[in-house]
Amino acid sequence: IPVEPFDLVIFGGTGDLARRKILPGLFRRFVAGQIEPEARIIGAARSELDDAGYRAFVGEAIADFGGNETRQKKKLKSFLDMLGYVTVDAKGDTGWEELAERVTDDRIRAFYFSVGPGLFGDLAKRLHKHGMADAQSRIVVEKPFGRDLESARDLNRGLAQHFDESQIYRIDHYLGKETVQNLMAVRFGNMLFEPLWNSQYVDHIQITVAETVGVGDRGGYYDKSGAMRDMVQNHMMQLLCLIAMEPPAKFDPDAVRDEKLKVIRALDPVEKDDLVRGQYEGDGTQPGYRNQVENRDSTTESFVALKLHISNWRWAGTPFYLRTGKRLRERASEIAVVFKDTPHSIFGPEAGNHRNILTIKLQPNEGIELGVTIKEPGPGGMRLVDVPLDMTFAEALGPEEADFPDAYERLIMDVIRGNQTLFMRGDEVEAAWAWTDPIIAGWQDRGDVPLAYTSGSSGPDDALMLMHRDGRRWREIK
Ligand code: NAD
Repeated sequence: IPVEPFDLVIFGGTGDLARRKILPGLFRRFVAGQIEPEARIIGAARSELDDAGYRAFVGEAIADFGGNETRQKKKLKSFLDMLGYVTVDAKGDTGWEELAERVTDDRIRAFYFSVGPGLFGDLAKRLHKHGMADAQSRIVVEKPFGRDLESARDLNRGLAQHFDESQIYRIDHYLGKETVQNLMAVRFGNMLFEPLWNSQYVDHIQITVAETVGVGDRGGYYDKSGAMRDMVQNHMMQLLCLIAMEPPAKFDPDAVRDEKLKVIRALDPVEKDDLVRGQYEGDGTQPGYRNQVENRDSTTESFVALKLHISNWRWAGTPFYLRTGKRLRERASEIAVVFKDTPHSIFGPEAGNHRNILTIKLQPNEGIELGVTIKEPGPGGMRLVDVPLDMTFAEALGPEEADFPDAYERLIMDVIRGNQTLFMRGDEVEAAWAWTDPIIAGWQDRGDVPLAYTSGSSGPDDALMLMHRDGRRWREIK
């Protein structure tokens, strides 16, 4: 269904994120017929460019990152015709009057802040000053939303001076993933799962976000952040919320976000023994973390594993294990809900141990799988085997239906439609920092140094111990 014509201004429209994700994504939505040719997309950044120069820049970005749709030359031309560019300084007066003239009064106006958080307040202030912060406007802000509770509060306050919470869309692109939304459909659209979705039946839950890449050329930024701030506080916390929350009464933005917030508020502080931090070492061919960030004494973690507890009726007694890191063996993101053993095995010890595991895979292939124990076919007696019930979209609905939009595309369309369900509310972000801050302060006070791990491994051995000592183990990442 097409969205109504809109004006979208991308601050930071010449940046890496705009080039790789936002602009190619908009083009794909245009090819899919979701964006009308009357819509207007305006790049706004510091670079001195004119409309033609920006169209050439975007044409190249689409050629590089547009995927199959790149072949649609006619569509590409119509898309590029929708684009414009204004040189704007977020911290000065350059360009603002021209921008105000270019955006239309009677349409939805979305302003995408694809710039560092240090500019969010400046942009909000100037949009207001130049008459672009009225009820038709909405703003989209990128991560990182602060580096601790105090800075997140400052950002929220800065935006709230000129925009209502209902106009603010804080992006966490993990929430735009098809499978993350499918997780909610599976949980709340079926009778099968919800009765078992608690500590009585769930032994534990594991969330893994493993990357094979190192910090690359983002070393300067990453070294000030680390895995806890870059991954756990935002993406992993969002996944945790969707897995653990109570059923919202309605699938509407505040009903869903209220439930997520309750999960974060119910998190216990993390004990020092339940936390493992690591830093990758070089492996002969690739440099180690400290070399890459050019800081020989860096104590920033490129890996973190932790065990946490949610203190409420549903989850008391069920631990959640989270791990994320760079330069690991495989690139894989998944959530695994590991159910308890059957109370009694009628098949005897030779049948082995079998558990139902519901796996929600986010990367590299999205999908949901339920491991079910059945009899191994054949005459070999009552031997049991686990087989996956595959709930992957592509398998069930065919390849056409499965050609779903990338996370950024979906989220930008949600902004235009005015649907905030998949965006973080200000209080949620603050609550997540309020939980994260003491963990970071704890290791800083103790002077903890991250454990070295070999590039291409599964992280420090202590992370394995975190589960072994509880008689559990991490799922192998494949
Ligand atoms: P970038 O450095 O590649 O681009 C920054 C953009 O901001 C450029 O277009 C630049 O012209 C513009 N800019 C800088 N100062 C300005 C000013 N004073 N006035 C106007 N424009 C100004 O950055 P990026 O990688 O595109 O990241 C943008 C934001 O998105 C950051 O907050 C980043 O953390 C976030 N983000 C990026 C990625 C990614 O993959 N690149 C992923 C997630 C989040």
